[in-house]
Amino acid sequence: MEAQCPICGSPVRLPDDVMPGELIECDSCGATLEVYEQNGMFLLREAEEIGEDWGE
Ligand SMILES: [Zn+2]
Repeated sequence: MEAQCPICGSPVRLPDDVMPGELIECDSCGATLEVYEQNGMFLLREAEEIGEDWGE
């Protein structure tokens, strides 16, 4: 299974057991990408920087 990197447009291989919300690194540009599901297909979007101490 493959999805397209939204940053550089390269195909990114997804594990067979990929789950929405998983983070995958693009081999081509090194971007961290979040897997999400739309219409039964897995797509990739740029992952937000996750701040552990946000809120409050
Ligand atoms: Zn990329």
